[in-house]
Amino acid sequence: MSRSHVIIGDGIAGSSAAQTIREADPDTDITVITDEGEALYNRILIKEFAKGKLPEAPISIHEPGWYEERDIDLELDTHVTDVDTEANVLHSHSGDEYEYDKLLVATGGTPNSLAGYGIENADAEGIHHFWTFQDARAIREHADEADKGVIVGAGLLGIDLAAICGAQGLDAHYLMRGECWWRYALDPEGAEVLHDAMREKGVTPVFDSGVDRFEVDDDGHVIAAVDPDGERFEGDFAGVAIGLDFNTEFLRGIPVETNDNGIVTDEYMRTNDEDIYAAGDITWFYDTILDEHNQNGAWGSAKEQGSTAGTNMVRDLEHGGRTDEPEEFRWVSSYSITHFEFPFLSFGHPTEGDQEASRKYSDTEWRKLALKDGRIIGGVLIGDLSQQSKLKKLIREERVVGDHVDKLLAADIDMDELETLAPAAAE
Ligand SMILES: Cc1cc2nc3c(=O)[nH]c(=O)nc-3n(C[C@H](O)[C@H](O)[C@H](O)COP(=O)(O)OP(=O)(O)OC[C@H]3O[C@@H](n4cnc5c(N)ncnc54)[C@H](O)[C@@H]3O)c2cc1C
Repeated sequence: MSRSHVIIGDGIAGSSAAQTIREADPDTDITVITDEGEALYNRILIKEFAKGKLPEAPISIHEPGWYEERDIDLELDTHVTDVDTEANVLHSHSGDEYEYDKLLVATGGTPNSLAGYGIENADAEGIHHFWTFQDARAIREHADEADKGVIVGAGLLGIDLAAICGAQGLDAHYLMRGECWWRYALDPEGAEVLHDAMREKGVTPVFDSGVDRFEVDDDGHVIAAVDPDGERFEGDFAGVAIGLDFNTEFLRGIPVETNDNGIVTDEYMRTNDEDIYAAGDITWFYDTILDEHNQNGAWGSAKEQGSTAGTNMVRDLEHGGRTDEPEEFRWVSSYSITHFEFPFLSFGHPTEGDQEASRKYSDTEWRKLALKDGRIIGGVLIGDLSQQSKLKKLIREERVVGDHVDKLLAADIDMDELETLAPAAAE
């Protein structure tokens, strides 16, 4: 009997699922559909390309031959418009139909525009959003010829755009709400390390700011951003990174559970439809460490979720229903920033929790931990990453350590001492 697995999205989640499915089932039909014009590439590295530091070639991960060799049908430039869950068929923008036994949705997100917030000229020429390799090509070309830049969005993608301005020699202003970069995860003391590093690269952070409107020239090209206080920042290059809209529109009207954070799954990457799975940035998945639904926007997590989904799609199909032995996704996500002279790592869920602890060790070394119900759930390390595996282990073990934050902030965490003070609950 022929079987068919269809995957929407050829990012790391979709591609990793395709590879897992093929390894588990040599005979099944596998189709990967993407609306991009190229096969999987390293999304993490496109910022280095945009800086002008890397050529195109090392950014590709899978050449088209990779798919052929594995008998995986790759459909480029194909946008999925709707799914018929009664007939197990999906449709593309060009009217093509794809039948599936098991469907994986791994469609990630699309950057939000300030137009959605009523900001005048938010989609003018010269204003960039950053998600795809095509975006990176446009950013590289424009940044190379621009003189002044304005960046909006004080998060992990915004700082990439700021660093690109720095690397391309633009005189840039980085407009932020509040008193520091990534204010939900850092405090001004920790963020100062980053602010200094930005200034060194010619990017001036501007606090308690934002964009009220963009000004354009007669050709409709951006020339400046004006903040809510009326201060004007010139920029013939602008970058906006204010979060993602999750790509679920083709699921509208069908009974697959979604919310503003994407597609709801359990810890096995299954949706409420027995034949539909989701993986990667798009998922609002059940996190078995937090014991609640949450989201990870990181490469390693998306890869692992894709692999978990692929395994369970094959097992469920072989079982003829949901297998009794599904693989579980249990993962402490991490995200590093490589723009500056010192290492920077965010792990787990550093913006959440009910308790925080932080310490500055030197001008370039800082640590912050987020705890919930006495357990570490995430943190940020700046300068010294040496304690990351210990901290991630404590997260995985769900150790109740809230009364021992001093020990957790020690330059070198003594795990034996913590074992005595706060024994592991689970691994
Ligand atoms: C500039 C940049 C820097 C980053 N840096 C880091 C980093 O340093 N560390 C880290 O861990 N993470 C980083 N990330 C985040 C990381 O890249 C993502 O978490 C990861 O790529 C998510 O993978 P995914 O497969 O879930 O989704 P995506 O990679 O977004 O792939 C989804 C794919 O689905 C396609 N698609 C969407 N809708 C449809 C449709 N209807 N029909 C067909 N195809 C569709 C999209 O075009 C896309 O190709 C960065 C991201 C960016 C953009």
